[in-house]
Amino acid sequence: MMTTFIEVRTLWTFHGDTMVPLQKIEWIFTLWKLLAEVAGIALLLGGALAQAPRYDLLLKGGHVIDPANHLDAVMDVAVLKDKIAAVEKDIPASQAGKVVNASGLYVTPGLIDIHFHIGHGGAPLNWFTPEARAHIGPLGIPADLALQSGVTTLVDAGTAGAETFLQEKEEVIDHAKVRVLAFLNIVANGMNGGLEQSVDQMDPKLCAETIKKYPDIIVGVKTAHFWTEEPWDAEHVPWAAVDRAIECGNMTNLPVMFDFWPRPERTYADLILKKMRPGDIHTHVFAQQFPIILPDGKLNPIMAEARARGVIFDVGHGAGSFWFRNAVPAVKQGFVPDSMSTDLHTGNYTVLSMNNVMSKFLAMGVPLEDVIRRSTVNPAKEIHRPELGTLSVGKDADIAVLEEQHGPFGYIDCGVARMDGNVKLVARMTVRAGKILYDPSGLSMVEWEKARPQYFTTPRLGNSKPARADDFPRE
Ligand SMILES: [Zn+2]
Repeated sequence: MMTTFIEVRTLWTFHGDTMVPLQKIEWIFTLWKLLAEVAGIALLLGGALAQAPRYDLLLKGGHVIDPANHLDAVMDVAVLKDKIAAVEKDIPASQAGKVVNASGLYVTPGLIDIHFHIGHGGAPLNWFTPEARAHIGPLGIPADLALQSGVTTLVDAGTAGAETFLQEKEEVIDHAKVRVLAFLNIVANGMNGGLEQSVDQMDPKLCAETIKKYPDIIVGVKTAHFWTEEPWDAEHVPWAAVDRAIECGNMTNLPVMFDFWPRPERTYADLILKKMRPGDIHTHVFAQQFPIILPDGKLNPIMAEARARGVIFDVGHGAGSFWFRNAVPAVKQGFVPDSMSTDLHTGNYTVLSMNNVMSKFLAMGVPLEDVIRRSTVNPAKEIHRPELGTLSVGKDADIAVLEEQHGPFGYIDCGVARMDGNVKLVARMTVRAGKILYDPSGLSMVEWEKARPQYFTTPRLGNSKPARADDFPRE
């Protein structure tokens, strides 16, 4: 039979100058810990009962521009969880867990860029095989780059078609922090895969079936780049791409976005005055190929006629679709596109941004409130998503904090010409569904020397909680 002996011994240790039994020290320590815990719980309870913050986030003292609600004044914006909770004058700072001083800045609904490119398009994925050397690279850029401009919703402009949409959704849309919606390309293979000129790739029925599968994401149809130089033939008739895109638009009751190249057999006037339906969108409106400005310098009257029919005009700046020679005289004569947008893709993202496009219009003399309207409520309406682009209470807390800077600035167009300006718009903070996803200058952060003790600790393990100055959701 085995017997276990437990030896009980008193260990002695120093407590100050006196030798005391170790057990006594442990007792004192345990008692102290218990008292601290009770006190902590009491504090927590007391805090919760007495002053639980009413809001998670408060943007205080900013100039709110929310055209959907006719707001253009200094106001405070409060957020609770992922929703806008209040837009009022003088909300007390004590009512919020985190307070951001937005004085001197503009607080607007999160911006909407309805012409953006994400994902591969129709480009093949076998980059490392020998035949891949002949392929064109992916067209799209990372969606979350848009956050740097205060954009909280972007719309992919037809990078994917019916056959490539699922891939784009799984690769990019499902992982993006920014909200991503899409126009579906009428070409089943999408853009950049070499099949945009094949009319048998443009199947309105397949397009409509795909759109009906993803009603939460797909907001319209896109056609682009079709037969811009070759002679017409039996397959390539002038309006093939336009007509098929409209057919899909009719089957789904959604708008079509047109990227278009006029030719004698298919004129711009016919596109905007005959083919396009009310609510359809002509993107790239200030591209070089459109007769926006007549030889005498006057705005072409077809622009006003088209607008009267309900046709929408979008900037879609891009790498080859924005010329000051069209934009400046048009804006001077009162023609400002209904929506601002970038057409960002791998060919232009180092220069372009939503803020850059908006700044150009500010520099051309369009008032800030109007530029914000054309970057929020207008695009929201164009894509039939009126719940977006507004700071209405109860809607998703998508917010841009913008700064209007003054000084000498240069702006460039796609014809490598420059326009000098003295105003520039820069995003300072972007909130998407209540999370602060972009804050490069730390508007929402504490100065490091005043950070809480946890910030100054050195984590012991790789999976330790990061030593951060606050716990506000930021990713
Ligand atoms: Zn585009």
